[in-house]
Amino acid sequence: MTDNNIVHIDLGERAYDINVAHDAIDTLGAKLKSMFPGARYGIVTDENVAREQLPRLKHTLEAEGLDFAVVTIPAGESSKSNKMLNHVVESLLKERLERNDIVIALGGGVVGDLAGFAASIIRRGMDFVQVPTSLLAQVDSSVGGKTGINSPHGKNLIGAFHQPRYVAADLTALGTLSERQFRAGYAEMAKYGLIDDQEFFFWLEENWREIFEGGPARAKAIAHACQAKARFVAADEKELGARALLNLGHTFGHAFEAVTGYCDRLLHGEGIAIGMVLAHRYSTKIGMANGQDAVRVTNHFKAVGLPTELSDISGELASTDKLMHHIAQDKKVSRGALTFILTKGIGKAFIQKGVDPDAISAFLEEQRN
Ligand code: NAD
Repeated sequence: MTDNNIVHIDLGERAYDINVAHDAIDTLGAKLKSMFPGARYGIVTDENVAREQLPRLKHTLEAEGLDFAVVTIPAGESSKSNKMLNHVVESLLKERLERNDIVIALGGGVVGDLAGFAASIIRRGMDFVQVPTSLLAQVDSSVGGKTGINSPHGKNLIGAFHQPRYVAADLTALGTLSERQFRAGYAEMAKYGLIDDQEFFFWLEENWREIFEGGPARAKAIAHACQAKARFVAADEKELGARALLNLGHTFGHAFEAVTGYCDRLLHGEGIAIGMVLAHRYSTKIGMANGQDAVRVTNHFKAVGLPTELSDISGELASTDKLMHHIAQDKKVSRGALTFILTKGIGKAFIQKGVDPDAISAFLEEQRN
């Protein structure tokens, strides 16, 4: 575990820092003033975050005499749409933001993905800064430059790689996040342990209560997760290889999100939690992993209150055929063959190409019972 609050993303000329700190928002005005002399700022946020955290951001920008405009969008996954992208782009253009000005994404993964994508296309590319305010955004979506929106054909199918210039991950901001949202973010944090860092997963098993209560373990865990993400991104910025491991649990999870309509029935992190449990169970079924690890992952997620079973998804779940339809739409599909992130046990995930869709369908059918 690290005690260093600055995590560096080593991407050559696109390198940047993540500041994981209790006052990351309060000190942002001074940081921006030194990084971008003379720039104006377009803050994109959602209505919840505008209520809870925007005053702090405005305060630090005003204290440094920085000029800014604010675009507020409705909260929720449905804002990752073409319509909202257009709204954000046109609003920022109307505010006369120029190419050397800066877009600030203040919010969770939805705001980060949308505002980052808007920044990537306005005037053929503006710089942007991430101020992630959900746990999920702090440990995952704000780092690594994947930006985008959803299409009726599937999640995140329209987008661009566009790295932020700086990330301010403010620990105090998590104080206004709901416990359910915090838990959903925890699933993405635990993912790094499950992929290639057994020690981190075991540490989480010991320390999760302190992380949820906001003790010192929280800051350590978030910085450690950011470092893990930084490592994957630096090694494979455009996801041509090992970065795909970060999709552990996501092929299943995205299908659950799609059939439940991207709403409160199932949060992204909750879908990923079930997906990661299923990846362990499927790996066990095909003889790759030992069943005890699947049970251990299930038990830990249950302990923190995350869903682990298909039956934990509220309402009636769509048919296996419908789930398979979405699985076949996944970004990781290559000419009809499925790619899954499977595992040889906790901390031993690997990329498996050419997975037979019939085998996955039969497995999902078993998991319904
Ligand atoms: P979100 O942005 O919808 O935020 C969750 C909810 O919490 C929203 O209602 C938001 O208004 C609220 N919220 C956020 N911060 C708050 C705060 N401090 N106080 C009070 N309320 C707050 O969802 P999310 O879970 O942050 O992100 C999910 C999105 O991230 C998905 O669209 C997913 O596809 C994307 N994602 C992207 C990447 C990537 O690499 N780009 C990685 C993982 C996930």
